[in-house]
Amino acid sequence: MTVKSDIEIARAAQKLPIQEIGARLGIGAADLVPYGHDKAKVGQHFIDGVQDRPDGKLILVTAINPTPAGEGKTTTTVGLGDGLNRIGRKAAICIREASLGPCFGMKGGAAGGGHAQVVPMEDMNLHFTGDFHAITSAHNLLAAMIDNHIYWGNALEIDARRVVWRRVMDMNDRALRDVVSSLGGVANGFPRQTGFDITVASEVMAILCLATSLSDLQNRLGRIIVAYRRDRTPVYASDLKADGAMTVLLKDAMQPNLVQTLENNPAFVHGGPFANIAHGCNSVIATTTALKCADYVVTEAGFGADLGAEKFMNIKCRKAGLAPDCVVLVATVRAMKMNGGVAKGDLAAEDVEAVRRGCPNLGRHIANVKQFGVPVVVAVNHFTGDTEAEIAAVQDYVAEQGSEAILCRHWAEGSAGIEDLARRVAEIADAGQSQFAPLYPDDMPLFEKIERIAKRIYRADQVIADQKIRSQLHEWEEAGYGRLPICMAKTQYSFSTDPTLRGAPTGHDVPIREVRLSAGAGFVVVICGEIMTMPGLPRVPSAEAIMLNDAGQIEGLF
Ligand code: ADP
Ligand code: MG
Repeated sequence: MTVKSDIEIARAAQKLPIQEIGARLGIGAADLVPYGHDKAKVGQHFIDGVQDRPDGKLILVTAINPTPAGEGKTTTTVGLGDGLNRIGRKAAICIREASLGPCFGMKGGAAGGGHAQVVPMEDMNLHFTGDFHAITSAHNLLAAMIDNHIYWGNALEIDARRVVWRRVMDMNDRALRDVVSSLGGVANGFPRQTGFDITVASEVMAILCLATSLSDLQNRLGRIIVAYRRDRTPVYASDLKADGAMTVLLKDAMQPNLVQTLENNPAFVHGGPFANIAHGCNSVIATTTALKCADYVVTEAGFGADLGAEKFMNIKCRKAGLAPDCVVLVATVRAMKMNGGVAKGDLAAEDVEAVRRGCPNLGRHIANVKQFGVPVVVAVNHFTGDTEAEIAAVQDYVAEQGSEAILCRHWAEGSAGIEDLARRVAEIADAGQSQFAPLYPDDMPLFEKIERIAKRIYRADQVIADQKIRSQLHEWEEAGYGRLPICMAKTQYSFSTDPTLRGAPTGHDVPIREVRLSAGAGFVVVICGEIMTMPGLPRVPSAEAIMLNDAGQIEGLF
């Protein structure tokens, strides 16, 4: 039997007109702004009108530390949404939009996989409804206004050596990481060193994903720090009077996008902040709107639970007043084996002992999620080669931790393969036993917040930071930023800062390299190790294999 590719499965989908999908959520045709036949934005008028309704149950899908074996968070998010609808519950899915640049680099889309996908997946992985274009434009408008302000006399006394606002584009292009702008003579301004980041890494993206309304969006945009003066005082986007025009460019992008799954269930696809430099979650406006329209909302967070779920809880939920009712932790037999020391090339052979050796990584994530007071259930995302003994080893281990692991076959079978998990999740959410609380209070000093995450979540012994970093944090506290949450940026591959340290390490240190203030988004970014804000393409980019066939269909995109 040949296995169909994701795009072949997606192409065969029997899509319904987007108005029918909206109707299932009680969103009338007049409240939808259609982008073609199968995509629509949800109108602001509708969003304003549902604010007084009660919220549905919120379910977060997160995972163990990613390995090259693949975990399937988005696939499981989509599958669980379909599964809940299959057992008669009214459920909606909230996932992130895809960055266009990486599509041409390495394989791996953002629409799920196998028989658990949202469609149209080609659109979603390419231009979609233009949200990222709008973010790119708003970001670069601000950049242009900075250089223009300096050119016309620099009344704000911006130190051209201390401009921190770079430019963005939605492409993997390492050639643009560091550039010199304004070359070519007097008419072109003052040359200075700068660079490009990928659009998803823009603070504008993080702001769009956390803003609760257009006025909140504009306030946050105004608070962006773009540069410093010689006396180190900050210059804000509002000082340049850029926030109004940026909001105009983002007006439509703020409206959540509605699409459907392969099984015609509603999915909100909105926002896609980088999970390292930002918090990596679906937009607050999409999640809160979905909660007003559906009884169950299934959403995802980027990377493993040590990064994604931690930031979902401590940043997104805290800021938006959300409280998850249940967490689904995705694990695979293959990833357990890799955590147990098996090389990627040897994953095909049965190795129950290696599965057992790898399970403590899963165990620690279970315990971590429980610290937030939220019930957790493990989803074992079934891969074709998994053996019964290996699956049993994972289930036994999880049972020993006082939790349960449910085998799911949504990738191969769609909603029929994930009924057991859907039933259990609905039962847990309905029981209303979640006692969600963030891991630290707002008024804890910034450094102590970092220590709390490092010790409670990463199980590190200590946080190492030199005096410069500690005094920087103090300065921000003095300036009134002390109540902000922390946005950790570290490797996703390990609980520690060493990407090769799999499993459940203890006794390690967390060295802080740098701290950055995202005053508009409203968090302090703590960077441990290298951080890449402009990816490059691999030696053989997938762009080489992407083309249109004779029927005008896209080939080679996943
Ligand atoms: P994540 O969201 O964790 O990055 P995705 O859900 O996007 O992962 O899945 C990554 C890739 O793995 C996709 O191409 C998907 O088709 C594939 N995949 C997911 N689950 C399975 C599975 N059970 N069997 C085979 N491939 C899978
Ligand atoms: Mg994903």
